[in-house]
Amino acid sequence: MQQEFKNVYISTYGCQMNVNDSERMYSLLEMNNYQEVEKPEQADLIIINSCSIREKPVHKVHSEAGLYQKLKKKNKALRIGVGGCVGQQEKKNLLKDIPYLDFVFGPDNIDDLPRILEELDEKKKVAGAKFKHQEPYHISNMVRNPGVATFVNITKGCDNFCTFCIVPFTRGRLRSRPLKDLVADINGLVARGVKEVTLLGQNVNSYDSDCGANFAKLLQTLAEDTQIQRIRYTTSHPKDFNQELVDVLAKYRTKLCDYIHLPVQSGSTEVLRRMNRVYTREEYLDKIRMIKEAIPGVSLSTDIICGFPGESDKDFEDTMTLAEEVGYETMYAFMYSPRPFTKAARYEDQVDEKVSRERLNRLLTFHKQQAFDLAKRYQDQVLEVLVESLDKRSSKGADAPRVMGRSTQNKLVHFDGDESLIGQTVKVKITETAPINFNGVRVFDSKELQQEKTS
Ligand code: SF4
Repeated sequence: MQQEFKNVYISTYGCQMNVNDSERMYSLLEMNNYQEVEKPEQADLIIINSCSIREKPVHKVHSEAGLYQKLKKKNKALRIGVGGCVGQQEKKNLLKDIPYLDFVFGPDNIDDLPRILEELDEKKKVAGAKFKHQEPYHISNMVRNPGVATFVNITKGCDNFCTFCIVPFTRGRLRSRPLKDLVADINGLVARGVKEVTLLGQNVNSYDSDCGANFAKLLQTLAEDTQIQRIRYTTSHPKDFNQELVDVLAKYRTKLCDYIHLPVQSGSTEVLRRMNRVYTREEYLDKIRMIKEAIPGVSLSTDIICGFPGESDKDFEDTMTLAEEVGYETMYAFMYSPRPFTKAARYEDQVDEKVSRERLNRLLTFHKQQAFDLAKRYQDQVLEVLVESLDKRSSKGADAPRVMGRSTQNKLVHFDGDESLIGQTVKVKITETAPINFNGVRVFDSKELQQEKTS
């Protein structure tokens, strides 16, 4: 008898953690006879996987759920749920405020999704948003079509309580996956053709395995005991970026990518203190020097908040000078926005929105030029590029097909090539640079040239 499938549509917003969480939901649901559909109109189950780090997330969930109300009127069997950080933050309030919503759940309850759906057969509404602080973090990686490069969760939650951040309240305390599970997961991905993994966590370098391994030890183990070609990781906290970790990055440089995202948040020691970042401007700059010394040519990236409560003109100038001194090739800068439950939301010296916006614009304008200038160093360099896919956009109207892939410095490189290159790491000479995207031409050493001729 033919299996009957139900259709699921997941709307995702937020960071890579959320994208990964949605993939996990799809995988779990596929095991429970659901299949992904592209449009909410086709779905028997709609999940809004939300993020509450920035902007007005609850409002966003309300307005998106509003769009689905008329679908529910047409199809009474349609189930609608909210997951992710807003589900965790609002719990039953959302079920009360949005009458046609069937269930809410938090990031810690994704694996309970099949059970929640079963419960809905008997109950009208289900709220599954309990933290599992005490339980070991035992999950296996779930990704349906990993492709060449994919993501692997290594930690969840965070214990740092930066005063602006909602994560400890929506994703709970830090838990780390066992080292042996990660080795097994990554070897499994390699067997499926994956060449590059990005290790994911709110604060990866606080990794603390049950066997006593820290993040440096984890990277070393993955570099030595797995066949993965490249390893990236995000996000790191400067307080845990130490000499031991930098030594491992330098030693296994062929596998551990030359790209470090190290959020500074502010260049002012006083603002950092009020953010509870537990490092000073000088300590951060010392770490940057340590990194640059050990890994010459490393590409650096950061997050910055403009207009944090109490940020003076002088504090902001400190951020500008720090950005200039470090030379970030990539920057994610945002205006401060108060988040529920956080300490900074209760600070009385909130900065006027107009001032914050002006500062943000100044910083972004500066960074745009700086990133453009820094990218010029790659001109005529030969980079190792892991080809990820066909470049459909730049292939349009071109004489030859084009492909795209990433260099170890996380630059997206576009060049002439066909599908057979996907999954290969090839040498590309850079002919044109912009902050993120480069154009180039493939180059061959004599051995490769020989192989190319005989193939
Ligand atoms: S370290 Fe990152 S995730 Fe943790 S509280 Fe601070 S900003 Fe949030």
